[in-house]
Amino acid sequence: MTYLLEVDGVTLTYKTPQILVTATRRVSFHVNQSDRYVLLGPSGCGKSTLLKAVGGYMSPTEGEIRIKGRKVTEPGADRMMVFQEFDQLLPWKTVFENVVFPLRVTGKLSRQEADERARDYIEKVHLTRAIDAYPHTLSGGMKQRVAIARGMAMEPDILLMDEPFAALDALTRRRMQDELLQLWADTRFTVLFVTHSIAEAIRIGNRILLMSPHPGQVKAEVEDVESAGGTEGGATRLERQIHDLLFSEDKVQDADDKVVAYG
Ligand code: ADP
Ligand code: MG
Repeated sequence: MTYLLEVDGVTLTYKTPQILVTATRRVSFHVNQSDRYVLLGPSGCGKSTLLKAVGGYMSPTEGEIRIKGRKVTEPGADRMMVFQEFDQLLPWKTVFENVVFPLRVTGKLSRQEADERARDYIEKVHLTRAIDAYPHTLSGGMKQRVAIARGMAMEPDILLMDEPFAALDALTRRRMQDELLQLWADTRFTVLFVTHSIAEAIRIGNRILLMSPHPGQVKAEVEDVESAGGTEGGATRLERQIHDLLFSEDKVQDADDKVVAYG
């Protein structure tokens, strides 16, 4: 069985002249086509590091990462990244230019096709009115929409999102979550989404990987968020279960078999 993304026993370390930091230890999970797969864990548990490695910006010291069975060794257009920071856009380019630029760089589309694709995705994130605006004139939420459009327009195998809404105010964050889910309903793209918010994980994910810190390890996996939290009051109950799993000292096998704890 070849998964869309397979993270197989991945240990990631940072070497500084003074110390060796183990960011994650033997983390394994897989992502299926059209999954909204969430990495959830407290700050410092290695979520960003894992995403960097999936992006091909960092090599595992142990284990392997595979996309459609091919080992990841470098960045590629099959994996596009959206970050938390609002400054991920090119400030001297307009919304349109930011989105179309990587499409033109790949050389896979004609100029006209690239332009059309860019306009299409700008429309999908409701930014047509701001298509000629420069980033500094946009709100945080609008900037994140541009970054999402830019990533999605490349139609990657998987979209990697590192706390993309964490720096937004609560109301805007909520709206962006809804919009992301609407985009997913339209196009069924595959996303690997990082967050430290349990509520966000439940809202966004169909599957959630729970990670423990220092070094980041897999604590448990919620295999079917909808059936675990979809009933009345289910989301609140699931939130509490996840909280207890994340912060329990030993690895808990929850009574509810919809939450599967790893050994
Ligand atoms: P998260 O995204 O879950 O908050 P990170 O992946 O950013 O966690 O960090 C995981 C661990 O790796 C932390 O202990 C952090 O201090 C360490 N770390 C992150 N980046 C570096 C780096 N460039 N050099 C050394 N240590 C780092
Ligand atoms: Mg991070």
